[in-house]
Amino acid sequence: MASLRAPLLRAAGAASRRAPASLRIASASRAVASPAAAPSRAFSGSACRSNDFESPFGINSLAKLSDEEEMLREAVRRFATEVVEPKVREMDENEKMDPAIIKGLFEQGLMGIETSQDHGGAGCSFTAAIIVIEELAKVDASVSVLCDVHNTLVNTVLRKYASKELMDKYLPQLSTEVLGSFALSEPSSGSDAFAMKTTCKKDSNGDWIINGSKMWITNSAEAEFFIVFAQGDPSKGYKGISAFAVEKSMGVEIAKKEQKLGIKASSTCTVNFDDVKVPAANLIGEEGKGYKIAIEILNEGRVGIGAQMVGIAQGAYEKSVRYAYDRTQFGKPVASFQGMQFQMADAATEIEAARLLVYNAARLKEEGRPFTKQAAMAKIYSSQVAQSVSGSAIEWAGGVGFTRETGIEKYWRDSKIGAIYEGTSNIQRQTIAKLQEKEMGL
Ligand SMILES: Cc1cc2nc3c(=O)[nH]c(=O)nc-3n(C[C@H](O)[C@H](O)[C@H](O)COP(=O)(O)OP(=O)(O)OC[C@H]3O[C@@H](n4cnc5c(N)ncnc54)[C@H](O)[C@@H]3O)c2cc1C
Repeated sequence: MASLRAPLLRAAGAASRRAPASLRIASASRAVASPAAAPSRAFSGSACRSNDFESPFGINSLAKLSDEEEMLREAVRRFATEVVEPKVREMDENEKMDPAIIKGLFEQGLMGIETSQDHGGAGCSFTAAIIVIEELAKVDASVSVLCDVHNTLVNTVLRKYASKELMDKYLPQLSTEVLGSFALSEPSSGSDAFAMKTTCKKDSNGDWIINGSKMWITNSAEAEFFIVFAQGDPSKGYKGISAFAVEKSMGVEIAKKEQKLGIKASSTCTVNFDDVKVPAANLIGEEGKGYKIAIEILNEGRVGIGAQMVGIAQGAYEKSVRYAYDRTQFGKPVASFQGMQFQMADAATEIEAARLLVYNAARLKEEGRPFTKQAAMAKIYSSQVAQSVSGSAIEWAGGVGFTRETGIEKYWRDSKIGAIYEGTSNIQRQTIAKLQEKEMGL
């Protein structure tokens, strides 16, 4: 087990108990290991500094962030701009995540955002995780999804459902050095995830033997830890499914790596289990309750994908609009033509609406209120906005937008996955429709 390293967030957490907000933001910025203080890019989204306003009625807008969340946004923005951005094109072309980026995410304390400080994490809010995912996606959606899956799926499954023994064993590693994957989908079970064929069987000692293949598993090329779902009794249908904490060293085989349209630096592989023996203690939650874990965790995860899509839309928008203000035709910046400005205004409005859906779902979850419908709406809408805004961004930049040099086309390629993973758009529609029916008593 590595020594606990999470300087950014823990320093931020400690500072927040003793320093005024302005100092806290400054100290968070200093804590980012980066080349000398380059100015961070202006943020043109909806978030305002939390200390700039306070409702006299005690109810704030969704732009109100806690000091810690605000500070985190600043710090992650710097990390993304100064450390990730210079490597984005190379990683995309090579279809490979730079290991230094993964190390940097751990060093910055961004891999245990909601994990308690006792377990080496930062003990921050769900919205804090959402903000990190959004900020990373503005610069690179692959780094964003790596961090998203690790935090909102892997860590959260352990935090919410695992025994104390499992949490004590794995959460500190996952906060500091070990990357995790979430293995649910299979070649023949995607949307119909509970039709899985991977099996789990108890041996004579009460340990589990897992057999089968998972497909499309994000982070799997670099991961050392897997949350795995397997069927123990097909006669019980989805109630036969259990969840396990599985170490790669237990015999997990990483097979074919997919070649993809977008998020190319994020690894997506087939993962094989051939008589993989998993200790009895590594069952997560109760036997046969894996389906519940998967459903509940994906509801949360969808808010994370929504945040990734908002980040993609904002990143594409900012890059292209800045270019269009520099580029002159007919003696004027092309962005000054009303035909362009109206499109940009519509795009900015759509991004704002998507962000509000995402933040609203996140805050509902934090408040312990129902958020499944809002999470589905946030995911479906933000993935549509990411596609349409990044598509327009290519056009606003003209020919150069179509080249790989500017990186604008990459946002469009990366946006496409938002309508597919963690439940396709049709599956989100199904969820929304079902909950609408229920709410209306139909
Ligand atoms: C890059 C990438 C990363 C991924 N990462 C992970 C991961 O880390 N872990 C993991 O477990 N999985 C992962 N997945 C899998 C992903 O969640 C599935 O691809 C997704 O759930 C869709 O399943 P499918 O691909 O089998 O499509 P299918 O289920 O075959 O769907 C095909 C089409 O049919 C539609 N459809 C299916 N059922 C219905 C229905 N009832 N009503 C209406 N339309 C329907 C779908 O909307 C879709 O348009 C990843 C996938 C990709 C591409």
